[in-house]
Amino acid sequence: MISRFKIRAYCSSPRCEYVQKEDVIEAINYETAYSLAQLYNELPSKQRCPECGERMAYYSHTIVKDPFVADGI
Ligand SMILES: [Zn+2]
Repeated sequence: MISRFKIRAYCSSPRCEYVQKEDVIEAINYETAYSLAQLYNELPSKQRCPECGERMAYYSHTIVKDPFVADGI
């Protein structure tokens, strides 16, 4: 199984569903992805949501890909 560890930016407002479509960054393992997400969340100049202007929050997420299952099935 191949896993990919990525960081995504979400709007921090509970009233807004905005999620950035592109992944912010891809990390080599879960620990790295998690600590990078924490680091991004601590940056003073955070990105703002283009829809409502709230701050963005960063989360790590894992994509598990089974090489024996073809894409699209
Ligand atoms: Zn928003």
